[in-house]
Amino acid sequence: MKKLNVNEILAKMTLEQKADMCSGVDFWHTAAYEELGLPDIMVSDGPHGLRKQDEEADHLGAAESIKAICFPTASAMACSFDRELLHTVGDALGKECVAENIAVLLGPGLNMKRSPLCGRNFEYYSEDPYLAGELGAALINGIQSRNVGTSLKHFAANNQEWRRMSINVLADERTLREIYLAGFEKAVKQAKPWTIMCSYNRINGVYSCENKWLLNDVLREEWGYDGLVMTDWGAMNERVPALKAGLDLEMPSSHGETDKQIVAAVQDGTLEESILDRAVLRVLNLVNQYISHKPDTRPSYNKEEHHDLARKTAAESAVLLKNDGILPLTAGQKIAVIGKFAETPRIQGGGSSHINCTKITSALEAFAAINELPGEHICEDGVCRMAPPARYEITYAAGYDTAEDKTDETLAAEALETAKNADVAVIFAGLPDEFESEGYDRAHLNMPECQNQLIERICDVQKNVVVVLHNGSPICMPWLDRVNAVLEMYLAGQASGGAAADLLTGRVNPSGKLAESFPLRLEDNPSYLNFPGRRYEVSYSEGIFIGYRYYDKKKMDVLFPFGYGMSYTTFAYSNLRINDTAFSDAGSSPLSLGSCPCHGAYSEIPANAASAISATDTDTITVSVDVTNTGKTAGKEIVQLYVKNFIGIENRPEKELKDFEKVFLLPGETKTVTFTLNYRSFAYYNLTIGDWFVESGLYHICIGASSRDIRLTAPVQMTGTKRLPFHAWDVTTCEDVDLFAKKPELLNELLNRLIQASITDEAEREKALRQLKFNFGWTPLHSILSFDNGALTYDEIQEVIRKLNDAEN
Ligand code: BGC
Repeated sequence: MKKLNVNEILAKMTLEQKADMCSGVDFWHTAAYEELGLPDIMVSDGPHGLRKQDEEADHLGAAESIKAICFPTASAMACSFDRELLHTVGDALGKECVAENIAVLLGPGLNMKRSPLCGRNFEYYSEDPYLAGELGAALINGIQSRNVGTSLKHFAANNQEWRRMSINVLADERTLREIYLAGFEKAVKQAKPWTIMCSYNRINGVYSCENKWLLNDVLREEWGYDGLVMTDWGAMNERVPALKAGLDLEMPSSHGETDKQIVAAVQDGTLEESILDRAVLRVLNLVNQYISHKPDTRPSYNKEEHHDLARKTAAESAVLLKNDGILPLTAGQKIAVIGKFAETPRIQGGGSSHINCTKITSALEAFAAINELPGEHICEDGVCRMAPPARYEITYAAGYDTAEDKTDETLAAEALETAKNADVAVIFAGLPDEFESEGYDRAHLNMPECQNQLIERICDVQKNVVVVLHNGSPICMPWLDRVNAVLEMYLAGQASGGAAADLLTGRVNPSGKLAESFPLRLEDNPSYLNFPGRRYEVSYSEGIFIGYRYYDKKKMDVLFPFGYGMSYTTFAYSNLRINDTAFSDAGSSPLSLGSCPCHGAYSEIPANAASAISATDTDTITVSVDVTNTGKTAGKEIVQLYVKNFIGIENRPEKELKDFEKVFLLPGETKTVTFTLNYRSFAYYNLTIGDWFVESGLYHICIGASSRDIRLTAPVQMTGTKRLPFHAWDVTTCEDVDLFAKKPELLNELLNRLIQASITDEAEREKALRQLKFNFGWTPLHSILSFDNGALTYDEIQEVIRKLNDAEN
């Protein structure tokens, strides 16, 4: 279609048309003006499939939407730790949108998993903003590569469903920047989503839709975002302040009500028309962006190919949580498949993301199909042959019903009998639909008691038990010690059954790792005391310590840690090296040893230790490590890089994920994995300067197979080149003069005056000075007067304060 001349269209619009342009005409379309040559565009949910609805009235999933592919939900896909895969899924979603003439797919959702109870966690990626940001960016890039827009949501701090449309999130700026905004920042910078959807909630008293700090200062001015910002559906509070704050499009339609407010505000002079024009232009640009590259005929897509991609994605994302060697299943085994979910898998969550699937494959169907496959062509030592086809003797019993949490003794008895008469029982279990959905939070982490009991009872009659889980977020597993293996599928989309069968039979080697921690108990979660808040507010008082940042810092045991997942093979890590040559003044001074607060003194200087590195915004550092497949099966390993923070002045997490790579290795094969770190990899958000800041000192580069399985570590001495400003005032303590002002000579001069003149020996005087500094450490400068026996005058102390401040200016 022809490109629009947006400036010309804007110039021809009446004030009323402009106001109208800034809200939807219905649930899913923007306004159109035939007389101006302006067509409408349609947006649709997202995020793990296309939910195109024609009915205007319903948007929470009850009304049918068109048939589409349901890919694994975000909580599943995140466990793939695979940027390329997410890009491919995005590309497929983009194709489906093109086929259905959808201009913007409403997703992905990059909200952090603050609590495992959030009802919508299945739609979100991780408790870690780096991982969520990287994967979200990959998905966006994939979708947008098809000239279909995305709507990065829900910006920001929408981390619960309880009172989500009004709750006031109380969080300090460092917490917001490091945890709740960082994933969005990454996705905005790396993928430039066409649109961003603001969240319903308030942040520190201000609704996201009218939050100038969020939408203008941070998003546009700092991150350089120039796309459109729309509301979540019904997230508009005050239309005119929102427009001023940078909110362009209200969704869905307000049926003209809030448009009238815009018109009135321009007419009475309380809203500059240029602000309205700015928003209108963004809507016009969005329409233009889509229609100017829209193909004349709508290409269709291959549903079978997309279903296969959904199966591959589910298999790449599933996490093998436990395996004593029982998996993969052996051909010829008699397998009792137990559980309703083996027949009707739970594949997605409830609410606006609910996809009307083209088809759903159950594990039972998948096993039957695998039993039909011919044997594989195998070549060993130059000799090729056809292996006999793998056949599994499958029996099935539903075991439980998902309608209510009540043991059905008939179903249970049948399941026990089936399990008893098999070589192995594979139980498909998890959370029924009503346990997790958009719109409400979970009350606990438990599976239905009838399922827990069934698992225990099957363990009584069968010694080989595998549990396959379908759930959108962490659960407790009271039976964990009794079963031989656990395969976490999450909500794995419409090809879930095929993927489960592929993994159980070893046709695919599991390679997913957890994108979130599984706590031992709900009470262990850092948000426990403040989730979901009271009445109108929720306090994020745990600050930056969510997920593994909290469990690691408190050295707590967890059920399964962040980044954890098993494989049918094993991997060895070696040869960690750091190349600091890209740094501006790298190697200028030797690595300082003996000062590591977490490890104590180093007895040896690691050969690969980087020497002093100066951190400026543009410097990078390259880290490489060799990974070898030491087992007999080909497989993929997710190699994780964490930066372990030295104990500096700020309270920092013990370590944080700063890069990851998924690598495929044949048995015996070794590959080098390379990571690039930059300033942000070492920085925290400093409130004094309102910017990212690297504290000078010793850090560790930790390479791990999970957050709790660090295989190799190397120290790095960082020298931050930015300096924090210092201002002395009435609460400035003696210690501050040393620590922050870095002017020990000024303090020494004062305190020396307190040492008795009779002490003349130099060493004795130094010792006395050290003692005084210790005693007066937290004493404000002006308070020294009360303890100095009249040795100092008020003016002398004021003079030191003046000198400290002069030194800054
Ligand atoms: C959800 C959004 C969704 C929108 C449109 C809202 O209730 O929070 O994620 O995109 O509805 O269905």
